[in-house]
Amino acid sequence: MITVVLAQPRGFCAGVERAIEIVERALRKYGPPIYVRHEIVHNRHVVEDLRKRGAIFVDELDEIPRGAITVFSAHGVAKRVEEAAAERGLPVINATCPLVAKVHNEGRRYAAQNREIVLVGHAGHAEVEGTIGQVPAKVHLVQTVEDVATLEVADPDKLAYITQTTLSVDDTRGIIQALKDRFPNIVGPDVRDICYATQNRQQAVRDLAHTVDLLLVVGSRNSSNSNRLREIGQELGKPSYLIDDAHALEAAWFEGIRTVGLTAGASAPETLVQGVLDGLRRIDTIEVTAQDGVAEDVRFRFPAELADVE
Ligand code: SF4
Repeated sequence: MITVVLAQPRGFCAGVERAIEIVERALRKYGPPIYVRHEIVHNRHVVEDLRKRGAIFVDELDEIPRGAITVFSAHGVAKRVEEAAAERGLPVINATCPLVAKVHNEGRRYAAQNREIVLVGHAGHAEVEGTIGQVPAKVHLVQTVEDVATLEVADPDKLAYITQTTLSVDDTRGIIQALKDRFPNIVGPDVRDICYATQNRQQAVRDLAHTVDLLLVVGSRNSSNSNRLREIGQELGKPSYLIDDAHALEAAWFEGIRTVGLTAGASAPETLVQGVLDGLRRIDTIEVTAQDGVAEDVRFRFPAELADVE
């Protein structure tokens, strides 16, 4: 028998719930099709479900017919994307997570102080591209402690840093320390830009990984926060797997395993977690318990045009 311990908290954060519901409310209010630039959140199942209900996902705005309702994803977009949408006459509903928008505002505030910005984040991630494109200043992207050593800045006394919202808290602390060592007058938010949902899920997995033999993280490959959860399990010496859903489970993983920790990234629906429990039941008998953990009650307001849609 395997004991499965469910991480608490796990799965959807307030920004993801809001973004998905924005598309659902837009479909109800305006009818399909609703165009969405980029995956609304980084989860294949969520995207497929919304696609079936009339959402059309596009990479670029020129794939959207003039005048069609357009939703920007939870990750945020660059200023040039907002401007291009206005030029094309697209009515935009912005599902950027308010905690990502907060980082944009912070970057703009530092830019107004004539500072160059160091953005700690992952190259190519939609949020990073959006944040770079929202800050009217030179932005240096830093991904590792090693990157800090090679930074070339105009004035070391006029520097600020900001971070992506879904980073590893531990890795980011190391990078911030390297920045402070090299540029003692740099200013920034410490790790407070890493959002509450990322921090809570990472802490839960850190606690969980100490007590289980193996860790399962439900989430898509391109989900930044899900990857960080798997890495924590791995760093703590436990076999750790990132899986899209129950189909990815392999019976061989569980030979000699007595306890399994199960969590889900901020963009993974609870139905997938329940599906993984069913998948585990096909492999062995299981007993399911839940971790004691933080209860989250964060909710974000909807854009005005959708506030009253049931
Ligand atoms: Fe917002 Fe954090 Fe969720 Fe990203 S992971 S959508 S920043 S609450």
